[in-house]
Amino acid sequence: MLTNGPGAGRAGGAPPRAPGAKPPRFGLSGRGWLLWLIGLLIFNVVFYGSDLKSSGNGPTVTLPYSTFVAQADAGNIKTATISSSTAAGDFRKPYKDPANGKTYTRYTSTLLPIADPNLANTLTGHQVEVTGVSSAAPLWLTVLGLVLQALPFLFFIGLIYFGMRAARGQQQGIFGFGKSKAKLYSEERPGTTFADVAGVDTAKSELREEVDFLRDPAKYQRLGARIPKGVLLVGPPGTGKTLMARAVAGEARTPFFSISATEFVEMFVGVGASRVRDLFDKAKASAPCIVFIDEIDAIGRRRSSGGPMGGGSNDEREQTLNQLLSAMDGFEPNEAVIVLAATNRPEVLDPALLRPGRFDRQVAVDPPDRQGREAILRIHTRNIPLAADVRLDTLAQATPGMSGADLANLANEAALGAARTNRSEVTAVDFDTALDRITLGALGGALMGEDERRTAAYHESGHALVAYLLPNMDAVRRVTITPRGRSLGVTQFLPLDDRRNYPRDYLFNRMVVGLGGRAAEEIACDQITAGAQNDLQGVTRIARAMVTQLGMDDELGPAVFGADESGLNGSPYATWEPKEYSDDTARRIDAAVHRLIDEAHQKARALLGANRPALDAISNALLHEETLNLEQIVALVREAEVGAAS
Ligand code: ADP
Repeated sequence: MLTNGPGAGRAGGAPPRAPGAKPPRFGLSGRGWLLWLIGLLIFNVVFYGSDLKSSGNGPTVTLPYSTFVAQADAGNIKTATISSSTAAGDFRKPYKDPANGKTYTRYTSTLLPIADPNLANTLTGHQVEVTGVSSAAPLWLTVLGLVLQALPFLFFIGLIYFGMRAARGQQQGIFGFGKSKAKLYSEERPGTTFADVAGVDTAKSELREEVDFLRDPAKYQRLGARIPKGVLLVGPPGTGKTLMARAVAGEARTPFFSISATEFVEMFVGVGASRVRDLFDKAKASAPCIVFIDEIDAIGRRRSSGGPMGGGSNDEREQTLNQLLSAMDGFEPNEAVIVLAATNRPEVLDPALLRPGRFDRQVAVDPPDRQGREAILRIHTRNIPLAADVRLDTLAQATPGMSGADLANLANEAALGAARTNRSEVTAVDFDTALDRITLGALGGALMGEDERRTAAYHESGHALVAYLLPNMDAVRRVTITPRGRSLGVTQFLPLDDRRNYPRDYLFNRMVVGLGGRAAEEIACDQITAGAQNDLQGVTRIARAMVTQLGMDDELGPAVFGADESGLNGSPYATWEPKEYSDDTARRIDAAVHRLIDEAHQKARALLGANRPALDAISNALLHEETLNLEQIVALVREAEVGAAS
């Protein structure tokens, strides 16, 4: 899903920095600190490395301790600065070193490691000016020393810490489910409103009540009214269920929490349940708000208690579902949290989910009809500069069965097409090209030989001509033999309106049109080809539905036989259902289907045979032009009719 509204999918953590913004200054970088430390060490070594240095000027001799004491005894020491390990100072008279014969005015000497109790007396006795110096390093240096000593230790602690963090990051999927909700559901305040949703007016008006409740819960609470807490949005993918839910939050100006039910279910039992709990806790704290659960059938499916196949139990899913049920029961009547859930298959949901107080209201979000499609196209072309020749009503007519998402995609594709060729407006041709691209695939498929092209031309002409000749049939929009993807040609129709109910004649005529391609090959070409496979499948499906589901066969009468295999209304257990009719009925069904198909085939052949000149004319024009529209086809048929009459 999809929604990338502003703020969608926002995760926790630091906010992203604006592009071009400077990184924050936290003082020194790592390298700066290192240089600082080295500097300090050098400073320490230079100034405090030896405990003492004599303070005056002049040549300095290093005396053995005994010589120093002897000089003191001799009264030749003038000053002595004494630390715990050294003595230094000035001589009274210059001292001549017997070893090298040089004279010195200053000395240093290393004291004995054992304290010499006489030294102080000797010095003071000879009026030496004695100064004591504390050998203790300054406090900051002591601290620095400690830090330096601890560095390797700290280094290892850091290594272990970061190692563990990295490991935890990798195991997020296993252990990280606890509190990292930000990644599991997105919370936002959507700017979407009902004006952004079109073609689903019934659903909109049903949801307005929820908006009203969220805006002013007190109004309802005063009267003791109970607003449905759970609303199930039912409809095929892309019809705008998520969009509707966002619009409800947007209209009510409340927070919107959304999650796909597939994200609840993890491989570990209990994770889904804890996620449901977290989500609802958060929602309650932010009330009034909307919680939107997409694809609720992922967890809300009927809990296993048999079924013809015995039904495998799935503990995790069931626990999650149970938690969801109890979370919904846990709302106080005055808590303004509305849970919207979307599904395409309401029939597979557990009945417990649909009980009053839970999802007791269902809102159908159906594929849009023609007006709806036009309105949706209008929304999605709001910001696209359209050329004067773009007719949104015609486009809406040409896009039956398309969902809102398909139409949004169509508008975008058309704009992309125009942008690719650097045009400032999007034209009708851009929309047509985009529509072809979406419905038929990209241009350029199989390369056709002359023979193949001729067969394709007759095949498509057959469809088009039969459709033209039959009453109450959808109008042909276009016929083409330009190969796209795997198809060698296409006949497109323009339904006058979206049909919700199909008369028997219409369905039968659809079969005749479907068989028109094959019939034309039979009449005009030497051989029949595999190109009719899709047509034949479609025709057989219609015939089978007419006989077994719609009660349209005179002999079998108005009865339904077996499950609907079209997959549209089929129950999920369709394949488990035992056959509900006898072998004899099966044979009668098959015979009825064959009869119908045969009848349609004969009719197609008869129509084309009677209008052979028109068939030839359309095929020849197609071979030339590759694509023909309705007006061209009508003109060709009229011409051929006139020619045949004269
Ligand atoms: P769903 O949830 O039913 O699968 P979404 O709400 O995700 O469908 O629809 C996807 C996109 O298609 C939307 O974001 C929107 O752009 C477009 N769309 C779908 N239905 C409509 C609609 N009824 N009106 C306007 N836009 C629509």
